[in-house]
Amino acid sequence: MNNVIRLLKLMKPQLGMMALGALLSLVALLANISLLAVSGWFLTIMAMAGLTGASINYFTPGAVVRFLAIVRTAGRYAERLVTHEATFRILAQLRYYFYQQLMPLMPYYQVQFQSADLLTRMQQDIDNIDNFYLRILLPATVAGVSVPLVCAAVAYFSTTLAMVLALVLVALGVGLPYLTYRLSAAQAKQKLQVNNQLQLGLVDGIFALRELIMYQVATRYHAHLLDVSQRLLAIELQLQRYRSLANSAHFLLVNGLVIISFVILIPLVEQGQLASEYIASLALLMLVSVETVMALPLACQLLPNTLASAARLFDIVDMPHPKFTGNEKVTRGDIVFNQLDFSYPEQSALALKGITLTIKPGQKVAIIGPSGAGKSTLINLLMGFWPTPAGKLTVAGKDLNVLDREQLRQHMTLMSQTGHIFNATIADNLRLAKPDVTLEQMRQVCEQVGLTDFIDTLEHGVDTWLGETGSGISGGQRQRLQLAQVLLRNGQVLILDEPSKGLDNLSERQLMANLFGHLASTQQTLIMVTHKPAMLAAMDKIVVMEQGEVVAMGEHLSLLQTCPYYRDLIDYF
Ligand code: ADP
Repeated sequence: MNNVIRLLKLMKPQLGMMALGALLSLVALLANISLLAVSGWFLTIMAMAGLTGASINYFTPGAVVRFLAIVRTAGRYAERLVTHEATFRILAQLRYYFYQQLMPLMPYYQVQFQSADLLTRMQQDIDNIDNFYLRILLPATVAGVSVPLVCAAVAYFSTTLAMVLALVLVALGVGLPYLTYRLSAAQAKQKLQVNNQLQLGLVDGIFALRELIMYQVATRYHAHLLDVSQRLLAIELQLQRYRSLANSAHFLLVNGLVIISFVILIPLVEQGQLASEYIASLALLMLVSVETVMALPLACQLLPNTLASAARLFDIVDMPHPKFTGNEKVTRGDIVFNQLDFSYPEQSALALKGITLTIKPGQKVAIIGPSGAGKSTLINLLMGFWPTPAGKLTVAGKDLNVLDREQLRQHMTLMSQTGHIFNATIADNLRLAKPDVTLEQMRQVCEQVGLTDFIDTLEHGVDTWLGETGSGISGGQRQRLQLAQVLLRNGQVLILDEPSKGLDNLSERQLMANLFGHLASTQQTLIMVTHKPAMLAAMDKIVVMEQGEVVAMGEHLSLLQTCPYYRDLIDYF
């Protein structure tokens, strides 16, 4: 229930449109029911007039029928338009909301988020929630209002019939779907598993065709697939039996309702309590009133899945993470680590131990060390992803925790190894870094990172679509594009994590020469995680890390003499 309320709160801005959709749906439904009832009555009095030769006014009922038909058609059209518009808006809003909630979580749950295929599942869950309004809330609201209205209208003629109608509608809308669900739940679950098994088996079989033939087990594999396939068929058959049973029960209930209506109404006519022309009208009304609950079975079927999706999403966004409230301005100045210790939550070992390091504005600093040494942790702390012990990390004399995060991330621009290239054009990806970038600036920055030659070979230049996760470009080009983004953002401090990974030596040297040229004119600070000796000689300071500690620090030449790890690294290359 809690999740339903949270979902409704998220949908609040669309509430007006959602209510309008429900109203239009209700109007169209009631117009349809009234249309059939009035038509039944009209046909009866016309037949009676024909038989008895009496004259009647058929203009008014004729006009009412036409009016109701128009309301029904126009209502249906408007309902579809409004409810779908509302659904799309809700979906857009949900995506935006969950994305926004997910963003601050990413640095803390990076490992879980990547390993568990969580993002794909989240997307499916958000898509599932689009059922909530259109297929659950809307039919439930419309049924909740229309069933009492229709029953009240019938009660005007016969209370007994109204009660029977209410019972049948509840049975059709809730009872029957519930029974079907209970009967088929186990099989439906089994079907999902066997279906998965079959799909995996087929895909595996296709990929491993060569091995299957080589090891001469193809026939056995084929028999296994056939067996799974037959199991699936048996489950489908059983499920179809339940569906047919439900359909038959539905048919019997609806038609039984019409017969019962005659059984109740005819004695009333005989007793003079009901005019005979209403019999056909009420019998037709019975038939069409089923429409009030028609969409409920699907709603009942979708409800558990949709709520489960919502629960999963809310569980994710509720994951605990540090919140930053600092709002002080970030200014250019020394970055100082002072005896900083840091450990990740729920980890007893320190990821960083006693880090003491000063980075002056405009300095070029390299951080090197084996995998797991704490390089990324150092960078993540600097980017303000984790809170740091008070006074241990400062920028221009101010504790990092009190700085405004937005400003901090404009001040420090990170190019990480896991940077994402969006499914968009080269220009769009550049605009992400600087929304108002001009074509001239794009050209200039692409020149700096050595992308121009590649772009010139493309038919559409910077307007070339890159495909999903930048699949249209090579690893090296992707690095260059990310570097172009970082340069465009123009922060005071550039933090680059292995910027030349995937580049050959010559391209790497050119890229770095361009980068250093750029830095000389902008006076930006550079902090770079790298293993490439080519760049190390040009750095003002090289920080060697091992097991969370700074084990050596200095310039290239002095480190060559004093640090064996550094010497080995240079020798290796
Ligand atoms: P490097 O970048 O030098 O390879 P890291 O900074 O990634 O090193 O890792 C330093 C240590 O911190 C490692 O022992 C690693 O397992 C641990 N670590 C890194 N990120 C996390 C995290 N999000 N949660 C828990 N431990 C982490």
